[in-house]
Amino acid sequence: MQDCLFCKIISKEIPAEIVYEDDRTLAFKDIRPAAPAHILVIPKKHIPTLVDLQAEDVELMGHIVLTASRLADKLGVSEEGFRLVSNCKEAGGQTVFHIHFHLIGGRQMQWPPG
Ligand code: IMP
Repeated sequence: MQDCLFCKIISKEIPAEIVYEDDRTLAFKDIRPAAPAHILVIPKKHIPTLVDLQAEDVELMGHIVLTASRLADKLGVSEEGFRLVSNCKEAGGQTVFHIHFHLIGGRQMQWPPG
């Protein structure tokens, strides 16, 4: 997708601190970290929001969650715990319209979020 920031990170047009990459997934450091560990895990396929997911994306989403879990281990936050969250559309706080999961850890999280 031409005007998508995260598609440009995938194609390396825009630099990012990439921590993991495979044929379907990219993970990179959030530019404005909300915690000591803050990674964005995204599909390489351009899907704007969670509402746009199709049945064919089920395996891809499972792969992303498993990737996030393994990254949490690599980042050293899996033992104490972490948060994996995806914001959907404006009311959900989404600002970049390419599905992404925030992997946030390294501090105590609060609930409910703001
Ligand atoms: P959202 O608000 O849930 O859509 O999350 C978008 C996230 O992308 C925010 O946490 C931003 O800090 C992050 N972000 C925006 N631009 C960049 C970038 O160029 N590199 C890495 N992260 C970015």
